[in-house]
Amino acid sequence: METKSWIRGNLIGSGSFGTVNLANDKYTGRIFAVKSVNPISSSPLSILSLENEIEILKKVNSPHIVSYIGDDTTKEVNSTTCRNLHMEFVPGGTVGELATKRGGLEERELRGYARCLTHVLHYLHSVAGIVHCDVKGRNLLVGSGPDGAKLSDFGSAKHLADMEKEVNWISGTPYWMAPEVARGERPSPASDVWSLGCTIIEMATGSHPWAELGVGTTDVAGLLVRIGFGGILPKYPVKLSNDGKDFLDKCLKVNPIERSGCEKLLQHPFLADVEEADSTGPSPRGVLDWDNEEFGDESEESDFDFGDFEEELFGFARERLRALCSEEESLEWGSDGWETVRWGQDGQERTGSEFSDFERGPVESGEMGGEGVSEASGSWVWEERRDFGCSNCDCGGCFYCDCCCKCSCSCKGGLDRQRSVGPIGVWTRGE
Ligand code: ATP
Repeated sequence: METKSWIRGNLIGSGSFGTVNLANDKYTGRIFAVKSVNPISSSPLSILSLENEIEILKKVNSPHIVSYIGDDTTKEVNSTTCRNLHMEFVPGGTVGELATKRGGLEERELRGYARCLTHVLHYLHSVAGIVHCDVKGRNLLVGSGPDGAKLSDFGSAKHLADMEKEVNWISGTPYWMAPEVARGERPSPASDVWSLGCTIIEMATGSHPWAELGVGTTDVAGLLVRIGFGGILPKYPVKLSNDGKDFLDKCLKVNPIERSGCEKLLQHPFLADVEEADSTGPSPRGVLDWDNEEFGDESEESDFDFGDFEEELFGFARERLRALCSEEESLEWGSDGWETVRWGQDGQERTGSEFSDFERGPVESGEMGGEGVSEASGSWVWEERRDFGCSNCDCGGCFYCDCCCKCSCSCKGGLDRQRSVGPIGVWTRGE
């Protein structure tokens, strides 16, 4: 189904490659989330990432993956063009945010999210033939209870079949990145398993993995070198049970071949005793399905069964909606703070400030080892560079492989030095 006329609401979140707003279908009243990129002013990587996410979400089908609703291109304020992905709105925020807010999750709840994530990775790797490439708590949306979490942000995901062909860009988020990916090697199901281990550390501590390194978020290059070449493991959370630590042992092997696959991980005792919660509860059709008119704190009318987490999950979702609909009047769709967007029509007037987010500056990028890189917790893309010219002569060869460097000058020495630290490329942030 493609939504043809809808209203854009407040900003829900923004990442490296796009902004996400609440949206309302004018005809059906359905609430959804819309991820948007301006194809003119955003980086080419942001567009690539959104188109990739649209293609992947169209194909996958799991209760633990955020559902695709549609996609379109709109003309908005000042004739700004937006490419949009419409998807199911998951109101509880992200598991990463929840863990940070609480300073780490209780183990029972953490096991539920871990089970859910392992299930969905098993589906992606073994059924859909896809590697997610950016598994982290901030890409796991809180659904109806710990076993109802939904994986999102498929902008970096790759088809396993395409891995055989030449892939000239890979991506992920440095703190959650497997060592081989940090070195610029191809991602694989095993690299998602490493990120699953890192996500368990994040859920248990409420902080990103590798916090013990004390590496500032500005030193992304230094962090990648340590993860990629250091042969070290992130510190395990002290309070994690022995089962949990054993599960991490199976995920966090420096050598990807030694990591367990998701099918085997699903049999692990760490995941075994989680009560299956009902993850097929009704999807909210409107903000008011999740709250009463006054955003009150009572949830006695709820039909959902969240077990021990009911109160807190409702509170979290309510708090989030309160923040999104900061004025009570905002609940009236189309009032201030909500903007009408028409599919495929030019010259639509807009009055709000929502789209200032799309009027971005030039693409920011940081070379590995260069200055000015920032935010190791946001996604980065590795672009292999086969166009690095030989710095010693005009031979036209590159430093990437022997075969194209045909001259006999000292550039061969340079080639060896470069290869000893891995393939040549740049890590680029999508903003
Ligand atoms: P990243 O920097 O991780 O690559 P991104 O640009 O790809 O981010 P997303 O991670 O997909 O963007 O989305 C940004 C934020 O928007 C998320 O952290 C989450 O808070 C919110 N969000 C995304 N999708 C949804 C959804 N379907 N329902 C509710 N909130 C969502």
